[in-house]
Amino acid sequence: MSFENLVGNEEIKNTLRNIITNKKLMHSYLFIGTSGIGKTLFAKEFAKMILCDGEIPPCNECKSCIEFNANSHPDLIEIEPEAGTIKIEKIRQMRRKSIRKTNYIKKKSIYYKRCRLYD
Ligand SMILES: [Zn+2]
Repeated sequence: MSFENLVGNEEIKNTLRNIITNKKLMHSYLFIGTSGIGKTLFAKEFAKMILCDGEIPPCNECKSCIEFNANSHPDLIEIEPEAGTIKIEKIRQMRRKSIRKTNYIKKKSIYYKRCRLYD
């Protein structure tokens, strides 16, 4: 299973793998910590695993993995901060998108990149 390209954090890797293997997904996960520790990489890899349709995620061969790797997965919403913050309007847009039916799979993943909110 994945995370081979991520160095260290074995406990976190095992926890996330177990979540996928046991199909015990919660509605959201926060990846928090100091800058540069790999939060974004972990979050993206975890999202890819959640969305994968292969037997051992991520398979990198299913339609979902191919679209994910091409940054064109229709069920992945990525929010980029502007000037280091995410405006509340972007969160509202994400909420509106998140309640729509997924495009071709049963699952939906939403990925936030850094989050410091204000109006
Ligand atoms: Zn896959």
